[in-house]
Amino acid sequence: MTHVITSLCLRDNGCSDVCPVESIQPGTTAEYPTYYIDSSTCIDCGACVPECPFHAIFPEDEVPGAFKAKGGEYINEAGLTGRYEAVNHRGQKVALDTTRALSAGEVIDLRGSIKTNAQFFK
Ligand code: SF4
Repeated sequence: MTHVITSLCLRDNGCSDVCPVESIQPGTTAEYPTYYIDSSTCIDCGACVPECPFHAIFPEDEVPGAFKAKGGEYINEAGLTGRYEAVNHRGQKVALDTTRALSAGEVIDLRGSIKTNAQFFK
């Protein structure tokens, strides 16, 4: 098993700062707009999970198939066109054009991120 970064990731970057085996890499294209975990090196320590302010990281077998939004969350995926701007935990500006804001009560399947994490490292 491994951990997975889902499309709730808005590139805060705190996860990669704490990963003891440098398994977390940022995507650098519109096709891969979040951070990703390399399953071949992840040791499943869980250190990255509490660092994510967006609660985007899950053990692979716990990635929600029916994530219910509180409202105000964003998903960040290839093909989306919404703008998101904020400052990450380092105080650096984050600007994304591949997002969509979720409505309160909206239910989404995050399990597609399992495949996306794997594809990123092929
Ligand atoms: S679970 Fe541990 S080893 Fe795996 S990506 Fe997160 S911090 Fe790195």
